[in-house]
Amino acid sequence: LDVIEKAEPSIDAFLKVSAETALAEADAFDKKNAAGETEGLPELAGVPIAIKDMIVTKGIETTAASKILEGWVPPYDATVISKIKAAGMPILGKTNLDEFAQGSSTEHSAYKTTKNPWNTEHVPGGSGGGSASAVGAFEAPIALGTDTGGSIRQPGAFTGTVGVKPTYGGVSRFGAIAMASSLDQIGPVSRTVLDAALLHEVIGGHDKRDSTSIPREVPPVVAAAREGLKMDLKGVKVGLIKELGGEGFQPDVEARFNESVKLLEDMGAEVVEISCPHFPAALGAYYIIMPSEVSSNLARYDGMRYGLRVMPPAGVPQTAANMMAYTREAGFGDEVKRRIILGTYALSAGYYDAWYGSAQKVRTLIIEDFAKAFEQVDVLVSPTAPTTAFKFGEKTADPITMYLGDVATIPANMGGVPAMSIPAGLSEEGLPVGFQFFAPQMQDEKMYKPAAALE
Ligand code: GLN
Repeated sequence: LDVIEKAEPSIDAFLKVSAETALAEADAFDKKNAAGETEGLPELAGVPIAIKDMIVTKGIETTAASKILEGWVPPYDATVISKIKAAGMPILGKTNLDEFAQGSSTEHSAYKTTKNPWNTEHVPGGSGGGSASAVGAFEAPIALGTDTGGSIRQPGAFTGTVGVKPTYGGVSRFGAIAMASSLDQIGPVSRTVLDAALLHEVIGGHDKRDSTSIPREVPPVVAAAREGLKMDLKGVKVGLIKELGGEGFQPDVEARFNESVKLLEDMGAEVVEISCPHFPAALGAYYIIMPSEVSSNLARYDGMRYGLRVMPPAGVPQTAANMMAYTREAGFGDEVKRRIILGTYALSAGYYDAWYGSAQKVRTLIIEDFAKAFEQVDVLVSPTAPTTAFKFGEKTADPITMYLGDVATIPANMGGVPAMSIPAGLSEEGLPVGFQFFAPQMQDEKMYKPAAALE
């Protein structure tokens, strides 16, 4: 809490610091520990954690960085929060993000901009810039994020931290505020691969309150990370994704990537090039499917059930429809409105097959690319993002350039496969570069071993 107090004026990672409850939870844990009642708890017991404000926390205001949820105090905990509490991990507070997790820089938060701890003139990435900067600036030892198209991994790359998107269905989404439900996944943000694995095992596993949760045990990610720390990768087959490099990728990002690949080879891994021919189409398909789901999911913010309500001004008919229109006009930011409009258009009668239908076909082709690739290799690798952290304001004027930065992270969400970003050195400018692993569905452990070896 002292570090948070010192760092926050320059970093702004938190929307809310829950100091009182964190201290109470820490005291309760200390008492239990002294009484010998903490045996059997996970290794992370007693370690404080920061939570992206896209995940609901009972009794702690949860806004998704939107004005439309301002003042909303959830009456329940997300499943991952219940698990974290049961593990004896005190909650430090809620971290900043792009409104409803829509963005790649955290500049779309309705409340504040979070700075990159490596250079405060640069963005921390997004949408989970708050969790990544909190961990990167040593304000929290570990955090939770959500990843719909890269929002855990790209901020990880930009801040020199570890970010994991588990297999879709591997971690319960109950209590994760919905952005695009077929792509959303909760995952760990940490300083080391082993820490991420320890948290992954705390939050993972089947949950009957999430209809897409997979009824299987959490993959053995901690054992795999520990195995990786021995730095022996004999027998591990690594595939370099041909389509995720070259044009559009910053030369020093590619240089750090190639050096990391060389290190994998030095540790005994066999490296081959793999083509995933449909990956270049993933970004376009994502920016149809994601806004379609966003337009549907965000219909619930109608001024009736949660947070903000704005009544029409005098002279305007005081109807329910007008109240909803005035509430949504005042409560949503520009980027969220842009996506609701795009999604509503893509789903409208007459355009549905041309846009949404085509995008779903592309999605199937990406799933098949992954399936074919994983017949040949254990893990796939690529740079996490084509560039290092950019400056504030550099991409806000042109949404398309912002979207293009998601090219390497989106395929994992489209395919439902696990992926993670780990630090891979610094650019010439002294900013962190991210290295990404992908693994087959429900075999998350396969990426933890080489990742732990490489970090
Ligand atoms: N940057 C991506 C987007 O803007 C990813 C967002 C996310 O993963 N929540 O949609």
